[in-house]
Amino acid sequence: MVGIVIVSHSKRLAEGVRELAAQMVQGKVPLAVAAGIDDPENPLGTDAMQVYNAIASVYSDDGVLVLMDLGSALMSAEMALEFLPEEHQQKVHLCAAPLVEGAIAATVAAAAGNNIQQVIAEAQGALIAKATQLGVVDHLTPYPSPLAERGEKQNTKEIRLTVSNRLGLHARPAARFVGCAARFQSQIKVRNVTKGSDFVRADSINQVAMLGVRQGHEIVITATGSDADEALAALQALIESNFGEDDRALEPHPTTSPPHLPISASPPSSLQGIPASPGVAIAPSFQFRKIPLALHQITPISIQEYHVKNPEFEWQRLQSALQTARQEIQTLLSNASIQIGDAEAAIFDAHLLFLEDPTLIEAAQQRVFTYHLNAEAAWQGVVDEVASNYHHLDDPYLRERVADVVDVGQRVLRVLSGAPVTAVEISQPAILVAADLNPSDTAGLDPTKVLGICITAGSATSHSAILARSLGIPAIVGLPAEILQLADGTLLAIDGETGRVWIEPEPDTLAALQAKRDTQQAAQQQALNIARQPCLTRDGSAITVFANIGSIADTQQALKLGAEGVGLLRTEFLYLNRTTAPSEEEQLTVYQAIAQILDTRPLIIRTLDVGGDKPLPYLGMQSETNPFLGWRGIRFCLDRPQVLKTQLRAILRASFGQQIKIMFPMIAAVAEIQAAKAMLTEVQAELRQAGIAFDETMEVGIMVEVPAAVAIADQLAAEVDFFSIGTNDLSQYVMAADRTNPKVANLADAFHPAVLRMIQQTIQTGHAAGIWVGLCGEMASDPLAAPILLGLGLDEVSLNPHAIPGFKVAIAQLTMAQAEAIATTALQQDSAAKVRALVSTSVD
Ligand code: PEP
Ligand code: MG
Repeated sequence: MVGIVIVSHSKRLAEGVRELAAQMVQGKVPLAVAAGIDDPENPLGTDAMQVYNAIASVYSDDGVLVLMDLGSALMSAEMALEFLPEEHQQKVHLCAAPLVEGAIAATVAAAAGNNIQQVIAEAQGALIAKATQLGVVDHLTPYPSPLAERGEKQNTKEIRLTVSNRLGLHARPAARFVGCAARFQSQIKVRNVTKGSDFVRADSINQVAMLGVRQGHEIVITATGSDADEALAALQALIESNFGEDDRALEPHPTTSPPHLPISASPPSSLQGIPASPGVAIAPSFQFRKIPLALHQITPISIQEYHVKNPEFEWQRLQSALQTARQEIQTLLSNASIQIGDAEAAIFDAHLLFLEDPTLIEAAQQRVFTYHLNAEAAWQGVVDEVASNYHHLDDPYLRERVADVVDVGQRVLRVLSGAPVTAVEISQPAILVAADLNPSDTAGLDPTKVLGICITAGSATSHSAILARSLGIPAIVGLPAEILQLADGTLLAIDGETGRVWIEPEPDTLAALQAKRDTQQAAQQQALNIARQPCLTRDGSAITVFANIGSIADTQQALKLGAEGVGLLRTEFLYLNRTTAPSEEEQLTVYQAIAQILDTRPLIIRTLDVGGDKPLPYLGMQSETNPFLGWRGIRFCLDRPQVLKTQLRAILRASFGQQIKIMFPMIAAVAEIQAAKAMLTEVQAELRQAGIAFDETMEVGIMVEVPAAVAIADQLAAEVDFFSIGTNDLSQYVMAADRTNPKVANLADAFHPAVLRMIQQTIQTGHAAGIWVGLCGEMASDPLAAPILLGLGLDEVSLNPHAIPGFKVAIAQLTMAQAEAIATTALQQDSAAKVRALVSTSVD
């Protein structure tokens, strides 16, 4: 029989729930309690060891369901799971159901001999039944019960923000929002104040997207739980960074003096659509409708609805199809990241979150268990419901999201049906013509074969259009249906900037379009050529330009954009969003992959820099009052030698035959770098003894990002081979202005002369000691910083890959003497604003 564990901060509460539940089933179900802590002064709390013991006491192969109250109860339960042997972990389920209703419903279901999935479904459905009975909420929005709201109020933290990115909380930002919220234990909700909506769950991609939050809308986010402050700070930072989006991507691309294009007067020799991705393409047409499964709009997968005898089996089928679909999207995401960059590939993050949306999964599960529906019908039912919700929204952008929902929905149905994956396959370069392309189809296109896209559906903000732009394929959407009648091989010329398609164009039109295409291609090539050249001033002085990266995919992108190496690999990405630290082998594989892509170019690997705004709860990081002044970076790693040693082994092993350098973050004292180096020496000795090769001459550096490090730079320089200045942190510490707090953002500005003087001091001290000095803060990504950084004498800068062409172009316009003069004057200004004004006027 399924066992039940009740985890609560209060022993009395947990005992009460157990009493209530046990009474319903006359004590038939194994029920255990893990509640309170052993401190008479302060008995409220939870303890992972207690949870572990409680699970062990009711464990059987039928499974255990764990119900928790809130905050640290979840954390303790998750930790307890890690203590269990792996084969037992699979059978223990942490349940999101409300404690009291969930415990009672689960106990009754267990007593009736139901299996663990049915018990979970019953528990999760408990509150839905209550809410429905009270008529306060529909079944897809289980949170906003007024009773729950009142109870939570004291523990709930709240922030109010205005969303300012261009498209608001549309799918990709919504995905980032949900992904960020999911990193925290707290229960997070959000509502659109401007539209007067109710609170919805921040872990549901659909509910968040359907809030219809647009640019300028005010939202309220609440968090209830032990890490509420951190969660809200992270979400705030995300929103204030405009979700890391480059809003310019949606603006029309400037072109150099477009030639006059004669437009044929009589359709159908030309057709007008909506410009979606700029550029001219001239090639024969290829109708895509011949490949049915990939195009849901033309041939949706038809399903049959029937009743099943074994809902458990059906539920397993659906779960495994969801898992396969997730893996497919994950592959698509990785490929898209490499081809088009992380920001655009994040569309598929939204698809992944859709598949993980708890409200959706719960609704599908309920259809299977309550109505005994087959997996296909249960899934199709919830997808239709969500699609129709999107469809009825006022907001045209959100209505476009129906395509994403349908795309994901069809993918799962295809997996359930066992049909093979189909892709757009074109043997000769062509212009693809279709009624519609879903984002998965578009991301899989080969830009060397698909020279242009013409579709009758869509808008400029549909994801297919966004993906086409990212792939650099000219595209026109919203074209008249006549285009679908063209025979394959018809010569087409398209101008993605104006949205016009010419069918069998006249010679003069063709010549004008060819000229426009050649001009555009030459301009693009020139920008890339500059980016791929060494970074030189007009008079031939050089500065090395590296990239800041956080993943294997970023490496490809960085090289394409002209990076000469990697100046900062933020290894945190390997540790975040998981429940255990990555193993040595796992890290080794990633470091080796990045080094191989870089070939002979340098790779500076920064050791783990968590803490601050990047907590790692699974490594025992608790919330701190002033996290940026707390247990972060090297401080944390020196206290967790095993974590650092594992990473050092992986870095050293990857260094063999590669240009890898190691960099320690947050160094504030000589003793810290000495301790880190001692650990490195220890690991090197172990490797030598084991006969494992590594680069014996690997350079060791530190980030200079704490004012103390600037003050004792001479002492630190004696310990290392290089400095890399981290202006993101240095600015916040120099100016005493939290980098995540928008109220003091104007102070935490690296252009402030106080910060510039610290940079100058570090460079001068480093050079006096004979070591090279670089800079890897975000400051370098602003082209206005280029003359100052060059003029101050930096040897290297490392920046966001997308900023590299702009940086190189800015440097190419300067002489060294000009840069030095600008830097000297900048140091004499009394505000960041005056420094910016100075640079703007000096380089015009
Ligand atoms: C910095 O502080 O400037 C830096 C590059 O590190 P991070 O932003 O990762 O703290
Ligand atoms: Mg830093």
